[in-house]
This record gives sequence, C-alpha cells and structure tokens, in this order.
Amino acid sequence: MKISVLQTDVIVIGAGASGLMCAAIAAQRGRRVLVLERANKVGKKILMSGGGRCNFTNLYVEPENFLSHNPHFVISALSRYTQWDFLGLVADYKIAYEERKHGQLFCQNSAKDILNMLLAECSKTGKVTIQTSTEIESVQISTSASKSSQFILNTNLGVYQCESLVVASGGLSIPTLGGSGFGYELARQFGHHVYPTRAGLVPFTFSNQFKAVTERLSGNALDVTLSNTDAEFTEALLFTHRGLSGPSSLQLSNYWQVGSPISINFFPALDIAQWLMDKKQAQPKSLLRTVLSEIMAKSIVLELQQLIWPQHSETALGQLSDTILQDIAKQLQQFEQKPSGTEGYRTAEVTLGGVDTTELSSKTMESKKQQGLYFIGEVMDVTGHLGGFNFQWAWASGAAAGQVV
Ligand SMILES: Cc1cc2nc3c(=O)[nH]c(=O)nc-3n(C[C@H](O)[C@H](O)[C@H](O)COP(=O)(O)OP(=O)(O)OC[C@H]3O[C@@H](n4cnc5c(N)ncnc54)[C@H](O)[C@@H]3O)c2cc1C
Repeated sequence: MKISVLQTDVIVIGAGASGLMCAAIAAQRGRRVLVLERANKVGKKILMSGGGRCNFTNLYVEPENFLSHNPHFVISALSRYTQWDFLGLVADYKIAYEERKHGQLFCQNSAKDILNMLLAECSKTGKVTIQTSTEIESVQISTSASKSSQFILNTNLGVYQCESLVVASGGLSIPTLGGSGFGYELARQFGHHVYPTRAGLVPFTFSNQFKAVTERLSGNALDVTLSNTDAEFTEALLFTHRGLSGPSSLQLSNYWQVGSPISINFFPALDIAQWLMDKKQAQPKSLLRTVLSEIMAKSIVLELQQLIWPQHSETALGQLSDTILQDIAKQLQQFEQKPSGTEGYRTAEVTLGGVDTTELSSKTMESKKQQGLYFIGEVMDVTGHLGGFNFQWAWASGAAAGQVV
C-alpha cells in the first residue's frame, strides 16, 4: 500500500492555548500550518479554566510572576506580546470580560468565547488545518537535503513533513484534559535537558491529625497569609476533605518541597496579640473562643481551640496572663503544619519544571540544538502564578514562535 505524505510549512503539536495562538499568527504571515491534536477536541483546558470563565490574562504581568530555573528567559516574549495585545484581540471580538481581585481578567460569559476567538483567528486565513484524534508515533529528521521537509512525523492518520515543528503539547497536569509527557520525551530525543517535573497550583494533602480537622472544616474558607521560607501569599484558604485548597494553597504549592512545613497566619490584617489584650481589658469574663468567634467562623475557632489552647478553653480572658495570650496570638499567626503531599497531577493546574530554557532562544523559542524545532507554553520550564499568568505565557510564547516559524 502506498502511504501518502503530506507536506506543510509548519506543524504544531497540540491544539491548546499556545498552539492555537502560534498557528494563527504563523498563518497570518502566509505560512501553511497543520495542528495535530491527540484529543478528540481542541482547547479542553481553556474550556475548563477559571471555573468555565477562563482567567485569560492579568493586568499586572511581571517576570516575577513566573517560576523558572532561568528567570530572565520570560522577559523578551512577555514584553513583545503583552496582556494589552491579548486584550486588543479580546476587544476586536467584543468578548465581555470582568476584572476580579489582583487584576485577574475573566470572561463574563464563558471560556468558550476565548477558544472560539482563537479558532476564528486560525480560520481567518484559510491556512490552518486542525486535525484531532492524531497520535504521533515518531518524529524523525529527514536525510534529504531539503530544509522544507526536514521533520517527518509518523502518525496513526498518515505521514507528515514540515520545515518548522512546534511542540505545544503542554505539561502533565490533568491527564483527562490532555496532560501528557510527550513534549518532554521529544525534547530529550533532540538532546535537550528537561528539569524534573512536579504538580503546581495544586491543593495540599495531610495524613497527620490535621487531616481530620480539615475534613471537619471542609467547605469553610477564610483569608489568610500562607507562607514558607520561600514565598508568602495573602489570599483565601479553603478547607477540604483532603487538606487545604483555595488560592493561597495553590499559589504556595509552587514553592513547596516535600517534607517541609507551611505556616498559616489566620489574622493577616490584624495585630491579634494587641486585639486579644484589648479584649482582655474590655471583656475579662469572656472566653477566648467567644471573642474570637466575633472575627472568625465559630467552627474554625473550636478546632483551633483544640489544637492551640485546650488547657485554657474554660478559662476567662481576665485569668489568662499576658504571656499566655501572646503565645496563643503567636500560634494563631504562625500556625505550622507539614503537608504529606499534594493532590498531584490529577487536579494540578500546571506542571513545574520542563524543557530547560537555557537551550531555547528567548526571542523565538527555537531550540539551540535543532534548527526548526520550537517549544512553547507549559512544556517549558516556565510556570506562572495563579491569576491568568499561565495563559499569558502561552499567548506570549506562542506569538513569539508564530512570528518566525
Ligand atoms: C483546570 C485548569 C484550570 C486552569 N485555569 C487557568 C486560568 O484560569 N488561567 C490561567 O492562566 N491558566 C489556567 N490554567 C493553566 C493553563 O490552562 C495552562 O497553563 C495552558 O493551557 C498551557 O497552554 P499549553 O498550550 O502549553 O498547553 P495546553 O493548553 O494544555 O495544550 C496542550 C495540548 O496538547 C495536546 N497534546 C498533548 N500531548 C499530545 C500529543 N502527544 N500529540 C498531540 N497533542 C497532544 C493536549 O491534548 C492539549 O490540547 C488552568 C489549568 C487547568 C488544568
């Protein structure tokens, strides 16, 4: 049987955020682009993102919002395709959006608006073909001298050749939404160093006595400062059946190492020691749990009482020495716990680690080891904070490659 070989200018592996952006921009330069997607549908993570409303970018994008072993790498691409560029596109398509806390921008209606916009940008030129349900079996370099067909991809649906190959297959997070290690394997095949990966923007789990506490408090949320030796975030904390979630936990998980503790300040906006001393003066007959319940959910206060001041639970405030009150206040502001782990890739929003960026061009995302090979989006060792930064990196790195492939 004769196998037909399809030749095109650019092949993008992965029809997610970065891949679609790259394809649209390359096609608008006149390039013929084939996007090969393993899943049966495109842009699954976009659709699920931001609770279905896609936190598509952030008003305050800075290089400091990204983790990488090579922190300066992001500067060039982020400054050449900014949040304002993406907002311009969103405005062209008249997509209704809203600003939430910390400059986070979300669709007002549905994440579908963003996916439809990217697909419309791709179809504008008639030069982008998107093929779903495609399994790539191998990627080889052609032995022929022709640069225009230097990459040969064998797939379940045929053989394809291209001049430029863009790896936009994302990270390992949420396998059911397309998470895969394909990009890392391909990078290694071409001699790239890949940093070890781990789940990021992911809830903490516990196996000690604190697990039972989080189970009982499951569903309760409050604003805290969550910190460790490397970072701190003042955001909502959510108790779950498995441990701690909410924005503060997700953010800190990016900076957490197995075996290390995290610290919760339950009263980030208050000098709780002074507040307790004032209460002792004003309400000497009250119990600590009674006064704390004025500023915190009673169910949380009762659990903290068991953990921090069980021996003083029935002692009136006026009977507690200043030293004891200050010690309790300190524990309320530096409440340490050691997570046993995280929920892992099953629920992680992102994957930390990945393709070493020192082996890529920060201007074009091209491999320094293989001409014509590009890596964009999450497959790289670049991870954003929670808040629209991961999508902004997908748009910016996708645009950087799209302008040159
Ligand atoms: C539940 C959830 C919510 C999120 N919410 C937000 C948010 O609100 N804001 C934000 O900034 N970020 C959010 N993120 C992170 C964001 O979705 C990712 O950082 C972003 O999608 C990465 O873009 P990408 O193009 O690198 O990868 P992806 O968008 O993951 O796209 C990769 C594509 O490659 C395909 N693929 C994988 N392997 C292969 C293969 N072998 N062959 C062909 N195709 C393959 C996948 O099926 C997928 O379609 C969220 C993530 C999750 C999981």
